[in-house]
Amino acid sequence: MGGRQRHSRNRARRETFTALQTIVQIAYASHPRVAEAIGYDGSPLVPMGGPVEPVELPMSAWPDVPAFMEVDVVIVGSGAGGAVTADTLARAGFRVAVIEEGGAYRAVEEAADRPVERMLRHYRDNGLTFAMGSPMISLPMGRAVGGTTTVNSGTCFRTPDDVLHNWERSGVTGVSPEAMAPIFDEVEEVLGVTPVPEEVLGANGSVARRGAEALGWSGGPIRRNIRGCHGHGACGFGCPIDAKQGMHVTYLPRAVASGATIVAHARVREITIEGGRAVGVVAEVRDPATGDRRGELRVRARSTVLAAGAVHTAALLMRQKLAGSSGQLGRNLVIHPGAGTSARFEEDLSAWRGTMQSWYVDEHLADGVLLEATFPPPGLGYSAGSLPGWGRDKDLFRLYPQVASMGSICSDEGNGRVHPVRGGAVVRYGLSTRDAHRLLEGIARSAELFFAAGAKEVYPMLPGLESISSEREVEHIRRGHWKRSEMHVSAYHPMGTARMGGDPSSSVVDPWGRTWDVPGLWVLDGSMLPSSTHVNPQITIMAMAARGAARLADTLS
Ligand SMILES: Cc1cc2nc3c(=O)[nH]c(=O)nc-3n(C[C@H](O)[C@H](O)[C@H](O)COP(=O)(O)OP(=O)(O)OC[C@H]3O[C@@H](n4cnc5c(N)ncnc54)[C@H](O)[C@@H]3O)c2cc1C
Repeated sequence: MGGRQRHSRNRARRETFTALQTIVQIAYASHPRVAEAIGYDGSPLVPMGGPVEPVELPMSAWPDVPAFMEVDVVIVGSGAGGAVTADTLARAGFRVAVIEEGGAYRAVEEAADRPVERMLRHYRDNGLTFAMGSPMISLPMGRAVGGTTTVNSGTCFRTPDDVLHNWERSGVTGVSPEAMAPIFDEVEEVLGVTPVPEEVLGANGSVARRGAEALGWSGGPIRRNIRGCHGHGACGFGCPIDAKQGMHVTYLPRAVASGATIVAHARVREITIEGGRAVGVVAEVRDPATGDRRGELRVRARSTVLAAGAVHTAALLMRQKLAGSSGQLGRNLVIHPGAGTSARFEEDLSAWRGTMQSWYVDEHLADGVLLEATFPPPGLGYSAGSLPGWGRDKDLFRLYPQVASMGSICSDEGNGRVHPVRGGAVVRYGLSTRDAHRLLEGIARSAELFFAAGAKEVYPMLPGLESISSEREVEHIRRGHWKRSEMHVSAYHPMGTARMGGDPSSSVVDPWGRTWDVPGLWVLDGSMLPSSTHVNPQITIMAMAARGAARLADTLS
Protein backbone atom coordinates (compact mmCIF):
# COMPACT_ATOMS: atom_id res chain seq x y z
CA MET A 1 0.00 0.00 0.00
CA GLY A 2 2.73 2.46 1.12
CA GLY A 3 4.90 1.48 -1.84
CA ARG A 4 2.03 2.11 -4.29
CA GLN A 5 1.38 5.58 -2.91
CA ARG A 6 5.06 6.54 -2.72
CA HIS A 7 5.62 5.59 -6.34
CA SER A 8 2.24 6.68 -7.64
CA ARG A 9 2.22 8.47 -11.01
CA ASN A 10 -0.10 11.01 -9.43
CA ARG A 11 2.14 13.76 -8.10
CA ALA A 12 -0.33 15.04 -5.47
CA ARG A 13 -0.77 11.52 -4.10
CA ARG A 14 2.99 10.96 -4.03
CA GLU A 15 3.63 14.26 -2.28
CA THR A 16 0.88 13.72 0.30
CA PHE A 17 2.20 10.25 1.03
CA THR A 18 5.76 11.51 1.53
CA ALA A 19 4.60 14.23 3.94
CA LEU A 20 2.45 11.79 5.93
CA GLN A 21 5.21 9.21 6.04
CA THR A 22 7.62 11.82 7.41
CA ILE A 23 5.17 12.78 10.15
CA VAL A 24 4.57 9.17 11.15
CA GLN A 25 8.28 8.37 11.15
CA ILE A 26 9.16 11.38 13.30
CA ALA A 27 6.30 10.76 15.73
CA TYR A 28 7.21 7.09 16.05
CA ALA A 29 10.96 7.35 16.50
CA SER A 30 10.83 10.27 18.87
CA HIS A 31 8.24 8.71 21.12
CA PRO A 32 9.77 8.48 24.62
CA ARG A 33 9.15 4.70 24.78
CA VAL A 34 10.96 4.13 21.50
CA ALA A 35 13.82 6.41 22.52
CA GLU A 36 14.10 4.52 25.80
CA ALA A 37 14.14 1.15 24.04
CA ILE A 38 16.89 2.34 21.70
CA GLY A 39 18.85 3.75 24.62
CA TYR A 40 18.63 7.40 23.61
CA ASP A 41 18.33 9.76 26.56
CA GLY A 42 19.73 13.01 25.16
CA SER A 43 22.66 13.07 27.56
CA PRO A 44 25.94 14.64 26.41
CA LEU A 45 29.08 12.67 25.60
CA VAL A 46 31.10 14.74 28.07
CA PRO A 47 29.24 15.21 31.38
CA MET A 48 28.26 18.75 32.28
CA GLY A 49 30.18 20.39 35.09
CA GLY A 50 27.31 22.55 36.30
CA PRO A 51 24.29 24.58 35.24
CA VAL A 52 24.36 26.76 32.12
CA GLU A 53 23.94 30.53 32.27
CA PRO A 54 21.23 31.74 29.90
CA VAL A 55 22.33 34.24 27.22
CA GLU A 56 20.37 37.48 27.51
CA LEU A 57 18.96 38.76 24.25
CA PRO A 58 16.49 41.60 24.78
CA MET A 59 13.69 41.74 22.20
CA SER A 60 10.13 42.90 22.04
CA ALA A 61 6.98 41.01 21.13
CA TRP A 62 3.23 41.55 21.38
CA PRO A 63 1.76 43.22 23.44
CA ASP A 64 4.86 45.43 23.78
CA VAL A 65 5.22 46.37 20.13
CA PRO A 66 4.47 49.93 19.00
CA ALA A 67 2.32 50.59 15.93
CA PHE A 68 5.02 52.73 14.35
CA MET A 69 8.84 52.91 14.42
CA GLU A 70 11.28 55.10 12.57
CA VAL A 71 14.87 53.91 12.03
CA ASP A 72 17.73 54.25 9.57
CA VAL A 73 17.61 50.61 8.46
CA VAL A 74 14.92 47.99 8.84
CA ILE A 75 15.98 44.37 8.36
CA VAL A 76 13.51 41.59 7.56
CA GLY A 77 14.72 38.34 9.16
CA SER A 78 17.30 37.67 11.86
CA GLY A 79 19.25 34.71 10.44
CA ALA A 80 22.76 34.44 9.01
CA GLY A 81 22.33 37.45 6.71
CA GLY A 82 20.04 39.62 8.84
CA ALA A 83 21.95 39.32 12.12
CA VAL A 84 25.34 40.18 10.62
CA THR A 85 23.78 43.11 8.77
CA ALA A 86 22.18 44.37 11.98
CA ASP A 87 25.45 44.18 13.89
CA THR A 88 27.50 45.88 11.16
CA LEU A 89 25.08 48.78 10.85
CA ALA A 90 24.37 49.20 14.57
CA ARG A 91 28.10 49.30 15.32
CA ALA A 92 28.47 51.95 12.61
CA GLY A 93 26.04 54.08 14.62
CA PHE A 94 22.82 53.62 12.66
CA ARG A 95 19.39 53.07 14.21
CA VAL A 96 18.45 49.49 13.27
CA ALA A 97 15.27 47.44 13.67
CA VAL A 98 15.20 43.68 12.97
CA ILE A 99 11.75 42.27 12.30
CA GLU A 100 11.52 38.50 12.77
CA GLU A 101 8.56 36.21 12.18
CA GLY A 102 9.78 33.54 14.61
CA GLY A 103 10.20 33.59 18.36
CA ALA A 104 13.06 33.36 20.82
CA TYR A 105 14.93 30.10 21.33
CA ARG A 106 15.68 29.81 25.05
CA ALA A 107 18.15 26.99 25.50
CA VAL A 108 18.03 26.74 29.26
CA GLU A 109 14.22 26.75 29.46
CA GLU A 110 13.81 24.36 26.53
CA ALA A 111 16.66 21.96 27.36
CA ALA A 112 14.33 19.40 28.94
CA ASP A 113 12.11 19.27 25.87
CA ARG A 114 12.70 16.52 23.36
CA PRO A 115 14.49 17.54 20.13
CA VAL A 116 11.28 16.90 18.20
CA GLU A 117 9.43 19.43 20.38
CA ARG A 118 12.08 22.05 19.72
CA MET A 119 11.80 21.25 16.03
CA LEU A 120 8.04 21.80 16.02
CA ARG A 121 8.58 25.18 17.70
CA HIS A 122 11.50 26.61 15.75
CA TYR A 123 11.14 25.26 12.23
CA ARG A 124 8.81 26.77 9.66
CA ASP A 125 5.66 24.67 9.31
CA ASN A 126 6.87 22.33 12.06
CA GLY A 127 9.77 21.20 9.88
CA LEU A 128 7.50 19.91 7.11
CA THR A 129 8.53 22.13 4.20
CA PHE A 130 9.23 20.50 0.85
CA ALA A 131 10.45 21.33 -2.62
CA MET A 132 7.79 19.97 -4.95
CA GLY A 133 8.99 17.89 -7.87
CA SER A 134 10.29 14.49 -8.70
CA PRO A 135 11.38 13.42 -6.16
CA MET A 136 9.72 15.53 -3.52
CA ILE A 137 12.58 16.94 -1.44
CA SER A 138 12.40 17.78 2.25
CA LEU A 139 13.62 21.40 2.59
CA PRO A 140 13.44 22.45 6.25
CA MET A 141 14.01 26.06 7.32
CA GLY A 142 14.36 27.70 10.71
CA ARG A 143 11.84 30.28 11.87
CA ALA A 144 13.28 31.78 15.01
CA VAL A 145 15.21 34.73 16.36
CA GLY A 146 18.58 33.81 14.88
CA GLY A 147 16.93 32.24 11.81
CA THR A 148 18.08 28.86 10.62
CA THR A 149 21.42 29.27 12.46
CA THR A 150 19.50 28.57 15.69
CA VAL A 151 18.65 25.08 14.49
CA ASN A 152 21.38 24.25 12.00
CA SER A 153 24.22 21.76 12.32
CA GLY A 154 26.96 24.30 13.02
CA THR A 155 29.30 23.32 10.20
CA CYS A 156 31.50 26.20 9.06
CA PHE A 157 33.26 26.17 5.70
CA ARG A 158 34.71 29.21 3.99
CA THR A 159 33.66 29.64 0.38
CA PRO A 160 36.12 27.62 -1.75
CA ASP A 161 38.53 29.77 -3.79
CA ASP A 162 37.32 28.44 -7.15
CA VAL A 163 33.75 29.45 -6.31
CA LEU A 164 34.88 33.00 -5.46
CA HIS A 165 36.93 33.19 -8.67
CA ASN A 166 33.88 32.11 -10.69
CA TRP A 167 31.75 34.75 -9.04
CA GLU A 168 34.34 37.42 -9.85
CA ARG A 169 34.39 36.27 -13.45
CA SER A 170 30.59 36.54 -13.57
CA GLY A 171 30.79 40.23 -12.58
CA VAL A 172 30.66 40.12 -8.77
CA THR A 173 33.62 42.40 -8.21
CA GLY A 174 35.72 42.47 -5.06
CA VAL A 175 35.15 38.90 -3.84
CA SER A 176 38.56 37.40 -4.54
CA PRO A 177 39.83 35.00 -1.86
CA GLU A 178 42.32 37.68 -0.78
CA ALA A 179 39.61 40.34 -0.43
CA MET A 180 37.31 37.98 1.47
CA ALA A 181 39.94 36.52 3.83
CA PRO A 182 39.78 39.30 6.49
CA ILE A 183 35.97 39.17 6.44
CA PHE A 184 36.00 35.41 6.95
CA ASP A 185 38.56 35.87 9.75
CA GLU A 186 36.27 38.27 11.57
CA VAL A 187 33.13 36.15 11.13
CA GLU A 188 34.95 33.08 12.41
CA GLU A 189 36.26 34.95 15.41
CA VAL A 190 32.80 36.18 16.39
CA LEU A 191 31.42 32.64 16.01
CA GLY A 192 34.30 30.87 17.77
CA VAL A 193 34.92 28.59 14.79
CA THR A 194 37.15 25.66 15.66
CA PRO A 195 37.60 22.02 14.57
CA VAL A 196 35.48 19.51 16.52
CA PRO A 197 37.49 18.72 19.68
CA GLU A 198 38.50 15.08 19.95
CA GLU A 199 36.50 14.50 23.16
CA VAL A 200 33.18 15.32 21.49
CA LEU A 201 33.88 13.77 18.07
CA GLY A 202 31.74 10.76 19.01
CA ALA A 203 31.61 7.29 17.50
CA ASN A 204 29.97 8.47 14.28
CA GLY A 205 32.90 10.79 13.59
CA SER A 206 35.43 8.13 14.57
CA VAL A 207 33.93 5.64 12.12
CA ALA A 208 34.10 8.23 9.33
CA ARG A 209 37.71 9.03 10.18
CA ARG A 210 38.63 5.33 10.22
CA GLY A 211 37.07 4.75 6.80
CA ALA A 212 38.54 7.90 5.24
CA GLU A 213 42.01 7.15 6.58
CA ALA A 214 41.88 3.57 5.32
CA LEU A 215 41.04 4.87 1.84
CA GLY A 216 43.45 7.81 1.99
CA TRP A 217 40.62 10.29 1.42
CA SER A 218 41.13 13.93 2.37
CA GLY A 219 39.03 15.56 5.06
CA GLY A 220 39.11 16.10 8.79
CA PRO A 221 37.18 17.13 11.86
CA ILE A 222 34.59 19.69 10.79
CA ARG A 223 35.20 23.31 11.76
CA ARG A 224 32.24 24.48 13.79
CA ASN A 225 30.86 27.52 15.59
CA ILE A 226 31.03 26.23 19.15
CA ARG A 227 32.10 27.35 22.59
CA GLY A 228 32.03 24.72 25.35
CA CYS A 229 30.41 21.89 23.34
CA HIS A 230 29.68 18.76 25.40
CA GLY A 231 28.43 16.63 22.51
CA HIS A 232 24.66 16.54 23.12
CA GLY A 233 24.29 15.65 19.44
CA ALA A 234 21.14 17.70 18.88
CA CYS A 235 22.56 20.82 17.18
CA GLY A 236 19.94 20.69 14.43
CA PHE A 237 17.13 21.13 16.93
CA GLY A 238 18.59 23.93 19.04
CA CYS A 239 21.67 23.32 21.19
CA PRO A 240 20.39 22.60 24.73
CA ILE A 241 23.30 24.54 26.27
CA ASP A 242 23.82 27.21 23.58
CA ALA A 243 27.32 25.92 22.96
CA LYS A 244 26.56 26.24 19.27
CA GLN A 245 27.16 29.87 18.43
CA GLY A 246 24.09 30.73 16.38
CA MET A 247 23.12 34.32 15.64
CA HIS A 248 21.01 34.51 18.81
CA VAL A 249 24.13 34.19 21.00
CA THR A 250 26.65 36.05 18.81
CA TYR A 251 25.76 38.74 16.28
CA LEU A 252 22.30 39.60 17.62
CA PRO A 253 23.42 40.32 21.21
CA ARG A 254 26.26 42.44 19.77
CA ALA A 255 23.81 44.34 17.58
CA VAL A 256 21.46 44.96 20.51
CA ALA A 257 24.38 46.13 22.67
CA SER A 258 25.05 48.72 19.94
CA GLY A 259 21.43 49.91 20.02
CA ALA A 260 19.57 47.66 17.54
CA THR A 261 15.98 46.64 18.32
CA ILE A 262 14.58 43.16 17.63
CA VAL A 263 10.86 42.62 17.19
CA ALA A 264 9.90 38.93 17.35
CA HIS A 265 6.69 37.23 16.20
CA ALA A 266 6.21 39.92 13.55
CA ARG A 267 5.80 38.82 9.95
CA VAL A 268 6.62 41.40 7.28
CA ARG A 269 3.78 41.43 4.80
CA GLU A 270 4.74 44.30 2.57
CA ILE A 271 7.59 46.57 1.56
CA THR A 272 6.47 50.20 1.57
CA ILE A 273 7.22 51.97 -1.71
CA GLU A 274 6.94 55.74 -2.16
CA GLY A 275 7.91 57.42 -5.39
CA GLY A 276 9.52 54.18 -6.56
CA ARG A 277 11.77 54.02 -3.47
CA ALA A 278 11.63 51.52 -0.57
CA VAL A 279 10.91 53.42 2.65
CA GLY A 280 10.18 50.64 5.15
CA VAL A 281 7.90 47.69 5.80
CA VAL A 282 4.54 46.71 7.21
CA ALA A 283 4.43 43.70 9.53
CA GLU A 284 1.67 41.64 11.09
CA VAL A 285 2.24 41.35 14.81
CA ARG A 286 1.29 37.94 16.19
CA ASP A 287 0.44 36.63 19.62
CA PRO A 288 3.53 34.64 20.73
CA ALA A 289 1.35 32.04 22.47
CA THR A 290 -1.34 31.42 19.87
CA GLY A 291 0.06 32.83 16.62
CA ASP A 292 -3.13 34.89 16.20
CA ARG A 293 -2.82 38.25 14.49
CA ARG A 294 -2.93 41.07 17.04
CA GLY A 295 -2.01 44.20 15.15
CA GLU A 296 0.21 45.89 12.66
CA LEU A 297 3.67 47.46 12.88
CA ARG A 298 4.77 50.07 10.35
CA VAL A 299 8.47 50.77 10.20
CA ARG A 300 9.78 53.75 8.28
CA ALA A 301 13.43 53.54 7.25
CA ARG A 302 16.00 55.18 4.98
CA SER A 303 16.97 51.71 3.72
CA THR A 304 15.22 48.34 3.78
CA VAL A 305 17.16 45.09 3.86
CA LEU A 306 15.54 41.76 3.03
CA ALA A 307 17.14 38.81 4.85
CA ALA A 308 14.18 36.44 5.05
CA GLY A 309 16.10 33.56 3.44
CA ALA A 310 16.27 32.49 -0.20
CA VAL A 311 12.66 31.31 -0.34
CA HIS A 312 10.85 34.09 1.51
CA THR A 313 12.93 37.06 0.37
CA ALA A 314 12.13 36.13 -3.22
CA ALA A 315 8.46 35.54 -2.40
CA LEU A 316 8.14 38.95 -0.71
CA LEU A 317 9.58 40.72 -3.74
CA MET A 318 7.61 38.69 -6.27
CA ARG A 319 4.33 39.26 -4.48
CA GLN A 320 4.79 43.00 -5.00
CA LYS A 321 6.38 42.66 -8.44
CA LEU A 322 9.56 44.40 -7.24
CA ALA A 323 13.15 43.94 -8.43
CA GLY A 324 12.11 41.56 -11.19
CA SER A 325 13.30 43.35 -14.34
CA SER A 326 16.05 40.80 -15.11
CA GLY A 327 13.59 37.91 -15.14
CA GLN A 328 15.88 36.08 -12.69
CA LEU A 329 14.06 36.78 -9.43
CA GLY A 330 12.83 33.56 -7.79
CA ARG A 331 14.80 31.44 -10.28
CA ASN A 332 18.23 29.74 -10.05
CA LEU A 333 17.34 28.19 -6.70
CA VAL A 334 20.18 25.96 -5.52
CA ILE A 335 19.48 23.70 -2.52
CA HIS A 336 22.39 21.19 -2.28
CA PRO A 337 20.31 17.99 -2.56
CA GLY A 338 21.48 15.48 0.01
CA ALA A 339 21.19 11.75 0.65
CA GLY A 340 21.74 9.73 3.78
CA THR A 341 23.48 6.38 3.99
CA SER A 342 23.65 4.24 7.11
CA ALA A 343 25.73 1.25 8.02
CA ARG A 344 25.71 -1.39 10.72
CA PHE A 345 28.82 -2.32 12.60
CA GLU A 346 29.46 -5.24 14.89
CA GLU A 347 30.12 -3.11 17.93
CA ASP A 348 27.80 -0.81 19.82
CA LEU A 349 28.40 2.80 18.71
CA SER A 350 25.52 4.76 20.26
CA ALA A 351 26.36 7.18 17.48
CA TRP A 352 23.84 9.79 18.64
CA ARG A 353 26.27 10.75 21.40
CA GLY A 354 28.79 13.37 20.37
CA THR A 355 28.80 16.12 17.78
CA MET A 356 25.89 15.72 15.37
CA GLN A 357 27.94 16.63 12.28
CA SER A 358 31.53 15.76 12.95
CA TRP A 359 33.85 14.62 10.13
CA TYR A 360 34.00 15.74 6.50
CA VAL A 361 35.45 14.12 3.41
CA ASP A 362 36.20 16.53 0.56
CA GLU A 363 38.10 14.02 -1.61
CA HIS A 364 35.33 14.25 -4.25
CA LEU A 365 34.45 17.93 -3.93
CA ALA A 366 35.74 18.66 -7.43
CA ASP A 367 33.09 16.19 -8.66
CA GLY A 368 30.42 18.05 -6.69
CA VAL A 369 30.18 15.58 -3.79
CA LEU A 370 30.86 16.42 -0.14
CA LEU A 371 30.47 13.81 2.61
CA GLU A 372 29.67 14.79 6.20
CA ALA A 373 29.30 12.29 9.04
CA THR A 374 25.95 13.26 10.53
CA PHE A 375 23.93 11.43 13.16
CA PRO A 376 20.83 13.28 14.37
CA PRO A 377 18.65 12.18 17.30
CA PRO A 378 16.54 9.08 16.51
CA GLY A 379 13.83 9.64 13.92
CA LEU A 380 15.06 13.04 12.82
CA GLY A 381 17.06 13.33 9.64
CA TYR A 382 19.30 10.85 7.91
CA SER A 383 19.94 8.10 10.41
CA ALA A 384 16.82 6.15 11.20
CA GLY A 385 14.62 5.72 8.15
CA SER A 386 17.16 3.70 6.22
CA LEU A 387 17.18 0.70 8.52
CA PRO A 388 15.48 -2.34 7.05
CA GLY A 389 13.98 -3.08 10.45
CA TRP A 390 12.21 0.24 10.46
CA GLY A 391 8.71 -0.14 11.88
CA ARG A 392 9.40 -3.64 13.17
CA ASP A 393 10.38 -2.68 16.66
CA LYS A 394 12.46 -5.65 17.68
CA ASP A 395 14.90 -5.32 14.77
CA LEU A 396 15.15 -1.60 15.06
CA PHE A 397 15.90 -1.58 18.76
CA ARG A 398 18.48 -4.30 18.40
CA LEU A 399 20.30 -2.72 15.48
CA TYR A 400 20.05 0.96 16.16
CA PRO A 401 22.97 1.32 18.60
CA GLN A 402 25.26 -0.36 16.04
CA VAL A 403 24.42 2.08 13.27
CA ALA A 404 26.52 4.92 11.89
CA SER A 405 25.32 7.40 9.31
CA MET A 406 26.71 9.70 6.65
CA GLY A 407 25.18 12.56 4.72
CA SER A 408 26.34 13.44 1.24
CA ILE A 409 25.47 16.74 -0.37
CA CYS A 410 25.74 17.54 -4.02
CA SER A 411 26.64 20.84 -5.58
CA ASP A 412 23.65 21.40 -7.85
CA GLU A 413 22.78 23.33 -10.98
CA GLY A 414 20.07 25.63 -9.72
CA ASN A 415 16.93 24.10 -11.16
CA GLY A 416 14.61 25.41 -8.48
CA ARG A 417 12.05 28.16 -8.52
CA VAL A 418 10.09 30.04 -5.90
CA HIS A 419 6.42 30.83 -6.48
CA PRO A 420 4.73 33.27 -4.13
CA VAL A 421 1.39 32.17 -2.72
CA ARG A 422 -0.89 33.91 -0.25
CA GLY A 423 1.01 34.18 3.01
CA GLY A 424 4.02 32.16 1.85
CA ALA A 425 5.76 30.42 -1.00
CA VAL A 426 5.82 27.19 -2.95
CA VAL A 427 9.17 25.81 -4.09
CA ARG A 428 9.46 23.74 -7.24
CA TYR A 429 12.66 21.86 -7.92
CA GLY A 430 13.64 19.41 -10.64
CA LEU A 431 16.59 17.17 -9.80
CA SER A 432 18.71 17.11 -12.97
CA THR A 433 20.22 13.93 -14.39
CA ARG A 434 23.71 15.22 -13.58
CA ASP A 435 22.76 15.93 -9.97
CA ALA A 436 20.97 12.59 -9.54
CA HIS A 437 24.25 10.94 -10.60
CA ARG A 438 26.13 13.06 -8.09
CA LEU A 439 23.77 11.92 -5.35
CA LEU A 440 24.27 8.27 -6.30
CA GLU A 441 28.02 8.87 -6.31
CA GLY A 442 27.71 10.32 -2.80
CA ILE A 443 25.83 7.23 -1.60
CA ALA A 444 28.36 4.93 -3.30
CA ARG A 445 31.30 6.80 -1.74
CA SER A 446 29.64 6.67 1.69
CA ALA A 447 29.19 2.90 1.27
CA GLU A 448 32.86 2.48 0.30
CA LEU A 449 33.91 4.48 3.34
CA PHE A 450 31.74 2.41 5.66
CA PHE A 451 33.06 -0.89 4.33
CA ALA A 452 36.62 0.42 4.68
CA ALA A 453 35.75 1.21 8.31
CA GLY A 454 34.56 -2.37 8.87
CA ALA A 455 30.78 -2.17 8.32
CA LYS A 456 28.86 -5.44 8.19
CA GLU A 457 26.00 -4.01 6.14
CA VAL A 458 25.30 -0.72 4.39
CA TYR A 459 21.80 0.71 3.86
CA PRO A 460 21.78 2.90 0.74
CA MET A 461 18.11 3.98 1.03
CA LEU A 462 17.45 3.16 -2.62
CA PRO A 463 14.18 1.50 -3.68
CA GLY A 464 14.66 -2.26 -3.91
CA LEU A 465 18.18 -2.06 -2.51
CA GLU A 466 17.61 -2.24 1.21
CA SER A 467 21.08 -3.33 2.12
CA ILE A 468 24.40 -4.46 0.68
CA SER A 469 26.96 -6.48 2.52
CA SER A 470 30.20 -6.16 0.57
CA GLU A 471 32.19 -3.58 -1.30
CA ARG A 472 31.65 -5.52 -4.55
CA GLU A 473 27.96 -4.63 -4.39
CA VAL A 474 28.65 -0.88 -4.29
CA GLU A 475 28.62 -0.82 -8.10
CA HIS A 476 24.87 -1.66 -7.93
CA ILE A 477 24.37 1.80 -6.46
CA ARG A 478 26.12 3.46 -9.40
CA ARG A 479 24.75 1.19 -12.14
CA GLY A 480 21.17 0.65 -10.98
CA HIS A 481 18.35 2.27 -12.97
CA TRP A 482 16.86 4.25 -10.15
CA LYS A 483 13.81 6.34 -10.83
CA ARG A 484 14.46 9.86 -9.66
CA SER A 485 10.95 10.01 -8.21
CA GLU A 486 11.83 7.12 -5.91
CA MET A 487 15.00 8.55 -4.40
CA HIS A 488 15.03 9.80 -0.80
CA VAL A 489 16.40 13.32 -0.96
CA SER A 490 16.56 16.15 1.56
CA ALA A 491 18.15 19.58 1.28
CA TYR A 492 19.13 22.27 3.75
CA HIS A 493 20.81 25.08 1.81
CA PRO A 494 18.46 27.26 -0.28
CA MET A 495 20.37 29.96 -2.19
CA GLY A 496 20.47 32.01 -5.35
CA THR A 497 16.94 33.38 -5.95
CA ALA A 498 18.03 37.05 -6.09
CA ARG A 499 21.52 36.59 -7.40
CA MET A 500 24.31 39.16 -7.37
CA GLY A 501 25.97 40.20 -10.59
CA GLY A 502 27.54 43.03 -12.50
CA ASP A 503 24.81 43.26 -15.13
CA PRO A 504 21.24 44.35 -14.32
CA SER A 505 19.89 42.33 -17.23
CA SER A 506 21.03 39.02 -15.70
CA SER A 507 21.10 39.64 -11.94
CA VAL A 508 18.71 40.92 -9.28
CA VAL A 509 21.19 42.74 -7.03
CA ASP A 510 24.55 44.42 -7.61
CA PRO A 511 27.82 42.98 -6.24
CA TRP A 512 26.99 44.36 -2.75
CA GLY A 513 23.35 43.31 -2.51
CA ARG A 514 21.61 46.51 -3.62
CA THR A 515 18.63 45.78 -5.87
CA TRP A 516 19.15 47.16 -9.34
CA ASP A 517 15.51 48.21 -9.65
CA VAL A 518 14.41 49.77 -6.37
CA PRO A 519 16.41 52.53 -4.63
CA GLY A 520 16.76 51.94 -0.89
CA LEU A 521 16.09 48.19 -1.17
CA TRP A 522 18.81 45.62 -0.45
CA VAL A 523 19.00 41.80 -0.25
CA LEU A 524 21.58 40.40 2.20
CA ASP A 525 20.96 36.70 2.73
CA GLY A 526 21.30 33.36 0.96
CA SER A 527 19.23 34.69 -1.96
CA MET A 528 22.12 36.86 -3.18
CA LEU A 529 24.62 34.04 -3.81
CA PRO A 530 25.20 33.61 -7.56
CA SER A 531 25.59 29.81 -7.54
CA SER A 532 26.19 26.79 -5.34
CA THR A 533 28.91 27.29 -2.75
CA HIS A 534 29.81 23.54 -3.02
CA VAL A 535 30.00 23.56 0.81
CA ASN A 536 27.59 24.44 3.63
CA PRO A 537 26.84 28.12 3.07
CA GLN A 538 26.35 29.92 6.38
CA ILE A 539 29.86 31.42 6.55
CA THR A 540 29.57 32.62 2.95
CA ILE A 541 26.20 34.24 3.68
CA MET A 542 27.52 35.95 6.80
CA ALA A 543 30.63 37.23 5.03
CA MET A 544 28.66 38.52 2.04
CA ALA A 545 26.20 40.21 4.39
CA ALA A 546 29.04 41.87 6.35
CA ARG A 547 30.53 43.15 3.12
CA GLY A 548 27.20 44.40 1.76
CA ALA A 549 26.20 46.01 5.05
CA ALA A 550 29.51 47.90 5.18
CA ARG A 551 28.74 49.26 1.71
CA LEU A 552 25.21 50.17 2.82
CA ALA A 553 26.68 52.03 5.82
CA ASP A 554 28.86 54.04 3.40
CA THR A 555 25.85 55.01 1.31
CA LEU A 556 23.97 56.19 4.41
CA SER A 557 26.80 58.25 5.90
C1 LIG B 1 18.68 21.51 9.56
C2 LIG B 1 19.65 22.47 8.91
C3 LIG B 1 21.00 22.30 9.13
C4 LIG B 1 21.89 23.18 8.54
N1 LIG B 1 23.21 23.06 8.82
C5 LIG B 1 24.10 23.95 8.32
C6 LIG B 1 25.46 23.87 8.67
O1 LIG B 1 25.87 23.02 9.45
N2 LIG B 1 26.32 24.76 8.12
C7 LIG B 1 25.90 25.72 7.22
O2 LIG B 1 26.74 26.46 6.71
N3 LIG B 1 24.60 25.82 6.91
C8 LIG B 1 23.69 24.98 7.45
N4 LIG B 1 22.36 25.11 7.16
C9 LIG B 1 21.95 26.22 6.29
C10 LIG B 1 22.11 27.59 6.95
O3 LIG B 1 21.59 27.57 8.25
C11 LIG B 1 21.39 28.61 6.07
O4 LIG B 1 22.00 28.57 4.79
C12 LIG B 1 21.45 30.02 6.60
O5 LIG B 1 20.98 30.13 7.91
C13 LIG B 1 20.61 30.91 5.69
O6 LIG B 1 20.73 32.24 6.11
P1 LIG B 1 19.66 33.31 5.64
O7 LIG B 1 20.01 34.59 6.28
O8 LIG B 1 19.55 33.26 4.16
O9 LIG B 1 18.25 32.79 6.19
P2 LIG B 1 17.80 32.22 7.60
O10 LIG B 1 18.95 31.97 8.48
O11 LIG B 1 16.90 31.09 7.29
O12 LIG B 1 16.97 33.41 8.24
C14 LIG B 1 15.78 33.90 7.66
C15 LIG B 1 14.86 34.40 8.77
O13 LIG B 1 13.87 35.25 8.17
C16 LIG B 1 12.64 35.04 8.82
N5 LIG B 1 11.56 35.46 7.92
C17 LIG B 1 11.16 34.87 6.77
N6 LIG B 1 10.15 35.56 6.23
C18 LIG B 1 9.91 36.60 7.06
C19 LIG B 1 8.96 37.66 7.04
N7 LIG B 1 8.08 37.82 6.03
N8 LIG B 1 8.96 38.55 8.07
C20 LIG B 1 9.85 38.44 9.10
N9 LIG B 1 10.77 37.44 9.16
C21 LIG B 1 10.79 36.55 8.14
C22 LIG B 1 12.64 33.55 9.09
O14 LIG B 1 11.71 33.25 10.12
C23 LIG B 1 14.09 33.29 9.48
O15 LIG B 1 14.25 33.38 10.87
C24 LIG B 1 21.43 24.24 7.70
C25 LIG B 1 20.07 24.37 7.48
C26 LIG B 1 19.17 23.50 8.07
C27 LIG B 1 17.71 23.67 7.81
